Amino acid sequence: MNNGSLYQTNLLGTVNSTGSTRSKGDQLLRLIRAAQPITRTDIAERLSIDKSTVTENVKPLVASGVIVEETIVSEALGRKARVLSFADDKLIFGGVNFGVRRSQVGLTTLRGEMLEEDDFETPTSVGFAMHLARNKLSEMVGRHAERELAVIGVSVPGMTDMDRQGVIYAPNLGWRDVDVAGQIRIGTNVRVVVDNDASAAAMFESRLKIKDSADGLMTNFILVRSGTGIGVGLVIGSEVYRGSGTGRGIAGEFGHMTIVAGGKPCVCGNRGCWEKYASAASAASLYLGDRPPARGESVPRFVEIVSKADVGDGRSRKTLEKIGDYLGIGIANVIMGTGIPRVIISGRLVYGWKYIEEPLVAAISRSIVGKLDGWSVEAGEPVGSAIGGALEVAVEEYLSSL
Ligand SMILES: [Zn+2]
Repeated sequence: MNNGSLYQTNLLGTVNSTGSTRSKGDQLLRLIRAAQPITRTDIAERLSIDKSTVTENVKPLVASGVIVEETIVSEALGRKARVLSFADDKLIFGGVNFGVRRSQVGLTTLRGEMLEEDDFETPTSVGFAMHLARNKLSEMVGRHAERELAVIGVSVPGMTDMDRQGVIYAPNLGWRDVDVAGQIRIGTNVRVVVDNDASAAAMFESRLKIKDSADGLMTNFILVRSGTGIGVGLVIGSEVYRGSGTGRGIAGEFGHMTIVAGGKPCVCGNRGCWEKYASAASAASLYLGDRPPARGESVPRFVEIVSKADVGDGRSRKTLEKIGDYLGIGIANVIMGTGIPRVIISGRLVYGWKYIEEPLVAAISRSIVGKLDGWSVEAGEPVGSAIGGALEVAVEEYLSSL
């Protein structure tokens, strides 16, 4: 089914906003999905469009059974209300998130119900990693034979190719030119879409925040995902920005921008990269004073450093504050370069947010960005955005095909 032209015709001129006409239909569908069940009046008010426009746009999707309309007793309204939501009994979406240490596989529905979830240690062999992920996903799909697998979304900590089918380079995994879609595909008709994990996490955070936003939109923001490395997702005009021309798929690699000239060596081959100073993984080496662990000394995990800080360990607290400072220095650079003042932090670094926030805000305040009004940095999800992001890539792909 292809109703793309319909959205363009109906919403063009009725939504007073910049950006492509294509995205207006996407915004309506995203709002229904994020805030379902939702009334037509609520959709119209939040997107500043006529209720009749909402009706015209959802009509073919209700007719084809993609969206269902039902009467519920609304507690908020204190009466019966007609609400819209996505049908939940026909399609399933698969997701694979390849992390540097661990990877996750999951299945979800259009209403966002997680049907199955599993995780495994990421094998060092890329071929085996693909094989393991595909097998686990295939087994999950087999247990839900009554539903049709629509799309598989894959998220990776690295740069993707222009068609979002493979990985060009994922430095922390050591992967180069991997045909991910070809190796993960289940069945011949199921589309596989590969995306950067920070872009995927940005889509995931968008959905959570659209639900409660007054205007039903998440127009412009920067997502900084800090775990083993640092990835940045850029959302501009409600769409993930991936670069243009031959650079499509590589935008957002700010983790490898140099913040210390001649600094610590990075897996990418350069020195002084941001992620060597502000990722959750970099906390361990900061904690150890940038020396290898002594004999019998273990390398602390990020959550262990947070736990130690919680019981008053000064060294752990200082480590986290230093991370916050470096993170803020890099974020100020990203805000300056993009002109996008809203930032969401995602990934396991969020576990240490209470120690990180203050020095982070102080570092941004010292920069030219800090002299301007209206910038903000908030904590997002520490872990849910990993598999959640991959699944979001799959569902977004489906929504944009409607
Ligand atoms: Zn680097």
